[in-house]
Amino acid sequence: MSAPRIGILGGTFDPVHVGHLVAAVNVRHELSLDLVLLVVANQPWQKVDTRPVTPAADRLALVEAAVHGHEGLEASSLEIDRGGVSYTADTVAELAGRYPGAELHLIIGADVAPMLGTWIRVEEVRRAVSLVIVNRPGTRVARTGSGGPLAGWRVTTVEIPALEISSTDLRDRAASGRPLDFLVPPDAIRVIRERNLYGGGR
Ligand code: ATP
Ligand code: MG
Repeated sequence: MSAPRIGILGGTFDPVHVGHLVAAVNVRHELSLDLVLLVVANQPWQKVDTRPVTPAADRLALVEAAVHGHEGLEASSLEIDRGGVSYTADTVAELAGRYPGAELHLIIGADVAPMLGTWIRVEEVRRAVSLVIVNRPGTRVARTGSGGPLAGWRVTTVEIPALEISSTDLRDRAASGRPLDFLVPPDAIRVIRERNLYGGGR
């Protein structure tokens, strides 16, 4: 059997939306990945100080609802189970142990690429994964040349349908009672309603 090919799409998913899912399924298709894990951050260290983050268990429930029954996509609670602040370096190390010999493909939106230099123990991540960058409206995909933020990384770019959707906008929508329909999968919207997340009484 050939080595498993695993995609890792990390995020806060607060809430999950079709931008995340379209990225996951298209990268899976283009790179013939066996599985894409949507890894829900426990404490996203770059966000916790700037805004209140929805409890991790709720964000995980949203992602589980969103991917349920979709072949090749899986919600991962690995960072939540580990607890504490979520660092991609730890996640990648853990997945390398869990899937011995696997090829790990770390999927990020173009907005994240310029931030790579700020990641904790980024060298470990760089050694362990290939990077897959998907386009995102409002951000140009950084160039891979020397001196840039992507120097030294193995990088593939995958062109996906441009969807100008963000969790930030969805939180605003929910809080002001505007619809999330067709931006968030219906099963995830159901979880938002059941758990009364994001205010707005939706
Ligand atoms: P927030 O507005 O709270 O930052 P977000 O919509 O950016 O939320 P994240 O959980 O931060 O969602 O993103 C997880 C990953 O998914 C990141 O790599 C991000 O670049 C990528 N991503 C999110 N939305 C899109 C989109 N519409 N198109 C392409 N990639 C996206
Ligand atoms: Mg983001």
